[in-house]
Amino acid sequence: MINASATILIVDDELQNRKLLETLLRPEGYQTRSAASGEDALASVAQLAPDLILLDIMMPGMDGYEVASNLKANPATATIPIIMVTANIDRDARLAGLKAGAEEFLTKPVDSAELWFRVRNLLRLKAFNDFLQNQSSLLEDLVQARTADLHRLAHYDPLTGLPNRALFLETLKKALGQAQDHGWSIAVLFVDVDHFKNVNDTLGHAFGDELLARLSNRLVDCVRLRDTVGRLGGDEFGMILAMEDGERGAALVANKIRVALRAPFNLNGHEVTVTASLGITVYPEDASDPETLIKYADTAMYRAKQVGRDTFRFFTAQMNVDVLARRELETALRKAIERGEFILHYQPKVQLESGGIAGLEALLRWQRPGHGLVSPKDFIPVLEETGLIVDVGRWVIATACKQIALWVRSGIGPVKVSVNVSGRQFVEGDLQVDVIKAVEDNSISADLIELELTESSLMANTERTIAALRSLKRRGVMIAIDDFGTGYSSLAYLSRFPIDKLKIDIDFIREITNKSEDAVIALTIIRMAHSLKLEVIAEGVETAAQLAYLQQHGCDQVQGYYFSPPVPVREVEQLLREGTRSPKTNGAAHGRAQVARAEAARPDAALHQTDREQTRPRSYMV
Ligand code: C2E
Ligand code: MG
Ligand code: MG
Repeated sequence: MINASATILIVDDELQNRKLLETLLRPEGYQTRSAASGEDALASVAQLAPDLILLDIMMPGMDGYEVASNLKANPATATIPIIMVTANIDRDARLAGLKAGAEEFLTKPVDSAELWFRVRNLLRLKAFNDFLQNQSSLLEDLVQARTADLHRLAHYDPLTGLPNRALFLETLKKALGQAQDHGWSIAVLFVDVDHFKNVNDTLGHAFGDELLARLSNRLVDCVRLRDTVGRLGGDEFGMILAMEDGERGAALVANKIRVALRAPFNLNGHEVTVTASLGITVYPEDASDPETLIKYADTAMYRAKQVGRDTFRFFTAQMNVDVLARRELETALRKAIERGEFILHYQPKVQLESGGIAGLEALLRWQRPGHGLVSPKDFIPVLEETGLIVDVGRWVIATACKQIALWVRSGIGPVKVSVNVSGRQFVEGDLQVDVIKAVEDNSISADLIELELTESSLMANTERTIAALRSLKRRGVMIAIDDFGTGYSSLAYLSRFPIDKLKIDIDFIREITNKSEDAVIALTIIRMAHSLKLEVIAEGVETAAQLAYLQQHGCDQVQGYYFSPPVPVREVEQLLREGTRSPKTNGAAHGRAQVARAEAARPDAALHQTDREQTRPRSYMV
């Protein structure tokens, strides 16, 4: 640390004194410089700072005190140690020296040993101070660099290393500025991984993270160096593409991404394949501010999801209109729940052997103010997407059970009622609790309630669903698969579920008498179901010919406009009281007459009119 060849500046107006000190210091290995006045001393220091100064106090012109104060006042020279040298050093002189900033004092005539000690000690101290100073500035640099790394991390997503939403937005803002100056187009892509939740749910979050990190590399490989890829959130990525060839270029990149994702990802031995849905907006056509461009790209991505995923859509103004309408519908539905605007209609199911009513299906209707009666097809998807179906579904179950209890207590007696159940009621709600509570609250027998589930809702959360269904079935609740034949239709798979009944989808029934494939499918379903000891019901029966075919092939129950559309409580009560006569007799005709009467009188006639008009020309054979 101590540099033996340290430079010492000797300041004294008398040459003899300067010479003496030089003679004493040089043999010790020190370099010396000298100055004959205070002014010269300051100039010499300014030119090249010495490691130590031996400073005479009494000098003509600028004295030693002044020189010391000057040097100590300047940060660049403040750390140079000063030893004041004077003939007689009394208390006042010492105090004045300390005040001026001197570190040490030596009295003339200088004792050589004392001089060496003082000089050596001060140089050592200075070296140590310099070292500390150096370290602290190094530390300061380190802290500064790390802060920069952090005030960097705040702008980059730690998982993928891509710009985060904030930086993406900032980059887009800059890109738009440049584009405006040069008259360029910019395409903004919104990329969302399809069913990413499934990966997280089945393989765990660590795998999900790994997948996102790898996927982000593939995305980066799909664009040019000057383009930007950012992570906007969870499984959402954004891209900024500078465009020369307009929309075509963006479509090319979108397709490139789809192709890049085809190859499976190998995650610790698990082969995972994912697809993505993409939305594209173009500056300046669609919008000119970054937030709106991203929002519109998101809207377009949502549309890509709606049309079946693994595809891309360019934003259109119509999408905005749809989004607004959809938002309005969502708000209206939330209000509908609060205000109790839902009601249930009931459609009879006919037991073919007896011709009597085997039970009813409860079907949801929305009395929307100013819109009349709204079909579930128009709002059930929104309820499902928003999760509101959990609350509404609970209401349906409670209302159906209350109705059953009313009928039991009135003269009508026990009536079996089926309710439609959405997959989200298993996943997010507690269907089991909802059903049991409704049954107990209304003191009805659990076997009067039947649940209709679609195959896809069964697939949503298999283990939990199976457990809930088993426990409900133990209580006596019946389980039916709705719209059978449109989903997986793997009976081997379905046999894992505790099912009582299959409901053949209306799609096969519609053409059952003039499309042989449909007839064969319906027949096969009936046979398979019976071999598994399951009941079969056909929905959407509208004609005598359809009915005859189903009856001939042993279908257990039928449901459809041929007997009755879904009708309000009062009307279904009337049907229950009268009973349905056997369709083998002219009872069916009676049934139809009754339906026609009922429909004409009902406010939701239009609801079914559309369905009937669509099906009648193709399937009416009578
Ligand atoms: P779904 O459960 O398959 O119900 C049968 C649908 O077919 C009903 O439509 C019914 O009115 C209609 N239908 C009955 N007979 C005939 C016929 O002969 N011909 C034709 N063309 N159609 C017939 P709706 O009431 O409009 O309900 C549509 C779907 O909405 C239901 O299909 C069901 O998936 C869903 N849905 C209805 N109510 C609820 C509910 O409370 N909860 C849930 N989650 N979904 C419900
Ligand atoms: Mg149903
Ligand atoms: Mg159905």
